[in-house]
Amino acid sequence: MADIIHLLPDSVANQIAAGEVIQRPASIVKELVENAVDAGSTEIMVLLKEAGKSRVQVIDNGCGMSDTDARMSFERHATSKIKEANDLFSIRTMGFRGEALASIAAVAQLELKTCKREEKLGTLIKINGSEIEIQEPTSCPSGTNIIVKNLFYNIPARRKFLKSNSTELRHLVIEFQRIALTLPQISFSLYHNDSEIYNLSAVPSIPQRIAGIFGRGILPNLVPVKTDTSIVNIRGHIGKPEFARKTYGEQFFFVNNRFMRHPYFHRAVTAAYEEILPPETIPSYFLYFDIDPENIDINIHPTKTEIKFDDERSIWQILNASIREALGKFNVIPSIDFNTEGSIEIPVLNKDSQANPPQIKVDPGFNPFRDKQNLENWENLYKENPHVEQGKWPNQQEDVNTQNELFQTGSQAQQNLFHFKGKYILSPVKSGLMVIDQKRAHERILYENFLELKSSLRTSAQKSLFPHSLKLNPADYILFKELLPDLNNMGFDIRDLGNNALIVNAYPSKVHINDPVEALEVLLHEYKSTQTNLEKGHKERLAQSLAKASSIPYGKVLSQEEMKDLVDRLFACNSPNYSPGGKPVISIISMEEFEEKFN
Ligand code: ADP
Ligand code: MG
Repeated sequence: MADIIHLLPDSVANQIAAGEVIQRPASIVKELVENAVDAGSTEIMVLLKEAGKSRVQVIDNGCGMSDTDARMSFERHATSKIKEANDLFSIRTMGFRGEALASIAAVAQLELKTCKREEKLGTLIKINGSEIEIQEPTSCPSGTNIIVKNLFYNIPARRKFLKSNSTELRHLVIEFQRIALTLPQISFSLYHNDSEIYNLSAVPSIPQRIAGIFGRGILPNLVPVKTDTSIVNIRGHIGKPEFARKTYGEQFFFVNNRFMRHPYFHRAVTAAYEEILPPETIPSYFLYFDIDPENIDINIHPTKTEIKFDDERSIWQILNASIREALGKFNVIPSIDFNTEGSIEIPVLNKDSQANPPQIKVDPGFNPFRDKQNLENWENLYKENPHVEQGKWPNQQEDVNTQNELFQTGSQAQQNLFHFKGKYILSPVKSGLMVIDQKRAHERILYENFLELKSSLRTSAQKSLFPHSLKLNPADYILFKELLPDLNNMGFDIRDLGNNALIVNAYPSKVHINDPVEALEVLLHEYKSTQTNLEKGHKERLAQSLAKASSIPYGKVLSQEEMKDLVDRLFACNSPNYSPGGKPVISIISMEEFEEKFN
């Protein structure tokens, strides 16, 4: 019987391999731009036609290729970047499989012009479906210029799977952003059908590149992140909670300067924002991990955007703690225990030792303004705490100016308070004019009070009433009965009379309630409307709803005493900067902003 096994022709083998690497025009841009980066280019230009379907051109000023190398580069497994299998683990350049050019050549028409820097004459190569049609000397600038035409011209089935131009263009832009965000020192430009999308000049730092891509307006909304451990170093920027968006778009993780997708680490970031994020929003982040390549596996995914870490749980914790620390440091929220800041350093583990997840002690609830024992007398807090009296934080470190300013801001704010439009409390502070939203401030105070109130405090902090009775519809009544024990724990005294009726005997003294029945109705409404927020526990939702229902309304005129009281209590909160719903409470209009107005 005749033998039936035969080798596939190269062109077919390459097409199959290409299926993994080249999925859409964006994959071509990624591969070609990465090659240009590896070639040491300082300027890279990407030109697209019809969302890259009919043409992708990448021009670089890198090292170029000799005529032999130019031809070799289209062979499968042709690469100048690794020599043996072991190199795979220590690779830090962009490409490393030697497959990209061969794959692209298998599924498109290709034209390459390349010239080494020291050479006068370069090489022109034209390839059609893996077949070299032309190779000849040509005169061209040093560097490499590749044109990829008619993607999947020879594979109609694949061509049909390409999406609309707008979708493919979106993928292209995202791919471009991912690379540009790692290499600010390289100038990148992107054109589509002859119109410019990006023209990013070389800049010395990542934030400047972020500004180049997303506009300068993003900069004031970012806070830096910087953490060094023996497992991983993390650098980068995260967005302030109030600027979080409802849709994805500004979330980037990089590992050793290569973009990666990592849903598990994404949760480490969002978890750190927890309470301070407006509902259903996603924070921005641009985070760069630096890790020994030995401790990761880049090859698990053909397009190399998914990376496996040896020690994911530890990194999750490190990442989460870093974000909390950064938010605490720069968000005007005093939220980190500076005593334990040093403990984020993790001892160097040797290779064979058992790696226990590090214990990172960052106490997000720590607040140097507050002395737990003095919770009842927070009004006297500034007077009673000698550290605060002197304008000093306990264990203050060099780099806590922001916090120190906040403290000063808090104590300065007691001096001159102005009520504005029945809505804001204004106070001149060192850096400008502080504006506090009175209702949100009160919501924050009440929210934290409701969550913390101990039963011993409760009885002394109740206001008794001439009992008010309340009749509800059956559905609300059932819901209310569920809330009743917690409400009573939070300082209410409400009894179930049966038959859809309740009676309110007392409520917490710190709240602002004119009409207890109305307040409870508002509470119910608020509680129901937070029902979709699955991240918050029942207690938090109740406290948030109750805070909303019983906070001082806009339009209420406040006396000096009341304003001072409110400001003091606000600054004694864990998170004075945000309402329980994640809205800003405090804003400082800087002197510069004032001066600009009179320019
Ligand atoms: P890899 O990048 O994984 O090595 P590629 O198929 O992408 O594989 O490229 C093959 C080789 O061609 C590279 O190793 C490099 O030597 C050369 N090459 C590709 N693009 C360029 C370029 N723009 N400038 C200089 N050399 C290049
Ligand atoms: Mg490559």
